[in-house]
Amino acid sequence: MTRRSYAEQRPLDLGFGVWSVPVPIPGNPLGYTLVYAIESPRGPVLVDAGWNHPEAWAALRDGLATAGIDVASVHGVVVTHFHPDHAGLAGRVREESGAWIAMHEADAAIVDMMNGVPSDVRGSFQVDMLRRAGAPSEDLPEGPAADGRQDPPAPADRRLRDGDLVDLPGRKLRVVHTPGHTPGHVCLHLEDADRLFTGDHVLPGITPHIGIYPFDRDDVDPLGDFLESLTRVGELGELGALPAHEWTFPDVAARAAQIRHHHEEKLERLLALLAERAEPLTIWETAAMMTWNRPWSELPPMLRGMAAGEAAAHLRTLEVRGVLRRLPGGDRVRFQALES
Ligand SMILES: [Zn+2]
Repeated sequence: MTRRSYAEQRPLDLGFGVWSVPVPIPGNPLGYTLVYAIESPRGPVLVDAGWNHPEAWAALRDGLATAGIDVASVHGVVVTHFHPDHAGLAGRVREESGAWIAMHEADAAIVDMMNGVPSDVRGSFQVDMLRRAGAPSEDLPEGPAADGRQDPPAPADRRLRDGDLVDLPGRKLRVVHTPGHTPGHVCLHLEDADRLFTGDHVLPGITPHIGIYPFDRDDVDPLGDFLESLTRVGELGELGALPAHEWTFPDVAARAAQIRHHHEEKLERLLALLAERAEPLTIWETAAMMTWNRPWSELPPMLRGMAAGEAAAHLRTLEVRGVLRRLPGGDRVRFQALES
């Protein structure tokens, strides 16, 4: 299957009481979020809600109507993670229906923090983080509110933990905590239909962004978590995947193994790269040497920042594995391969 544009997407009845509704992400190459509606006697429960934008809202409302669902009847919204293309419209759905919003407690805490911080403070935090990673001044965002493009998502009414059953009368929808893409990312196992809502954790054609923010944190290991989370969903048995982007696919475990392999190779190449260098490298220098979908010189500053976050996550995992050393000195952190 190849990537198809949003214009070619339609709401689909998947059987087993679940509809998928494509909701556009205007201006984003990802195209759309697949919002799922699960029928229940108390009203449908949505998995994710889509990007907060008038066009997206219209698509969600009309798509649900195609499925015979009045948005005012929605019982609840489970958000796989706090990113705006997933959680953005959850608040709007709650306004229209009185639905609850549920997400993992770790992402709920991030949303609470985002709602408590003014956007100009978020911007200066970002500039400071980029500097410490070794970003040259031309890569720093202009203006203070670099992160203020979207309002933070609506706070959660319910906080989920691994193993919880979501409030979905008559059905069994279990929370599988899959940290990595975000600390509180969850997959949702529809046990009565052998399906897994995978959010961004396992997508058929692409892999999710795994980054560390701020880049030089040494108390977390999101890539290590992500790899473990891939193993975890691979162990759930044979499940069909209902991802939040692209298209549905039959075998979660096989795709999870493929993605794990992709990152292990990337880790190996990165370690080899560092081992060739006599001098320790900053996070920025490391990112500039790695392979991205475009040459480094053509990446705009925003994407360089994301690449640096991804480089930082790979460096951190190698550090946790004991094959890399962090040299804190000065105002920016550097990394060096350990001799084996
Ligand atoms: Zn995401």
